[in-house]
Amino acid sequence: MAEVLVYVDHVDGSVRKPTLELLTLARRIGDPVAVSLGNGAADTAATLAEHGAVKVLTADAAEFADYLVAPKVDALQAAVESVSAAGSLAAVLLPSSAEGKEIGARLAIRIGSGIITDAVDLEAGDEGPVATQSVFAASYTTKSRITKGTPVITVKPNSAPVEPAAAAGAVEELAVTVADSSKGTKVVSRTPRESTGRPDLTEAAIVVSGGRGVNGAENFPVIEALADSLGAAVGASRAAVDAGWYPHTNQVGQTGKSVSPQLYIAAGISGAIQHRAGMQTSKTIVAINKDEEAPIFELVDYGVVGDLFNVVPALTDEVKTRKG
Ligand SMILES: Cc1cc2nc3c(=O)[nH]c(=O)nc-3n(C[C@H](O)[C@H](O)[C@H](O)COP(=O)(O)OP(=O)(O)OC[C@H]3O[C@@H](n4cnc5c(N)ncnc54)[C@H](O)[C@@H]3O)c2cc1C
Repeated sequence: MAEVLVYVDHVDGSVRKPTLELLTLARRIGDPVAVSLGNGAADTAATLAEHGAVKVLTADAAEFADYLVAPKVDALQAAVESVSAAGSLAAVLLPSSAEGKEIGARLAIRIGSGIITDAVDLEAGDEGPVATQSVFAASYTTKSRITKGTPVITVKPNSAPVEPAAAAGAVEELAVTVADSSKGTKVVSRTPRESTGRPDLTEAAIVVSGGRGVNGAENFPVIEALADSLGAAVGASRAAVDAGWYPHTNQVGQTGKSVSPQLYIAAGISGAIQHRAGMQTSKTIVAINKDEEAPIFELVDYGVVGDLFNVVPALTDEVKTRKG
């Protein structure tokens, strides 16, 4: 069976969920071979093996942390060459993060391949893997296949379930030579963002978002309380972030983050096309809005017509009660 390279997104050895989702998809088209780079790379092997990686190629070098993405592209290119030389390579999969897309695009140019970004599904095809994308503010679903070179495909978080599937996960050291030309941009400082303790917005399985209806920064704790009761991330409409009620990093939509959680709860959000563009592929959508004519109700699975200041706290209490 052909092998499929999966680029591992991890933090000091702790594998992030989108990578485990990639392993689920990779198994549909071949044998997953994980490529894990940087500090803690070897520590990722056990988790990757539990989720179907037949092999884990690891490399650690100071350059991966010291420079922006190019040394990681060198490593992934080395993995492509090594796997291709030993057998056949069906595809290279990366998470659709900003970094994943940049690495994917640079790799595709280096190896002369086509690239598909922001796939939301992947299936095996007679002439190579077929990727599904949701485009034009989710108004069209397209299926594409790469016609040139080894397919390089980036996949959005929450596009596939995490499925344990024990495999050998044999660890092999990947020989990487970081080119001088890959040292063009050096990282000069790092300041960690203050952690909220909540999941990352683009990766969260549940997102609770507030809009102009929240009516002030002082009221956003109502949204946060529901999010915390569900273990969710907090999002916001552009109207809410432009008003300074919530950070811009939490904006969902065309000019904000694109999210695709299992459950999206929108409170006090009208459902403008630009907001929909960032959340329309969510699996289940719930809206709370006091205007029964609000456009958001056109796309919801469940809608509650009511004042969010009554509905959201009641929902939070109910979630807490049921969780015991
Ligand atoms: C180029 C461009 C890019 C854009 N990008 C984005 C983007 O990325 N993300 C984004 O969100 N927007 C974006 N916008 C803005 C977008 O067009 C809307 O203006 C914005 O989404 C509106 O935000 P909102 O739904 O919170 O506010 P509103 O449209 O004002 O809606 C507020 C809603 O809250 C309801 N409400 C009020 N009080 C309560 C209450 N107490 N209880 C329950 N419901 C209540 C109202 O009935 C109303 O439906 C963009 C616009 C442009 C032109």
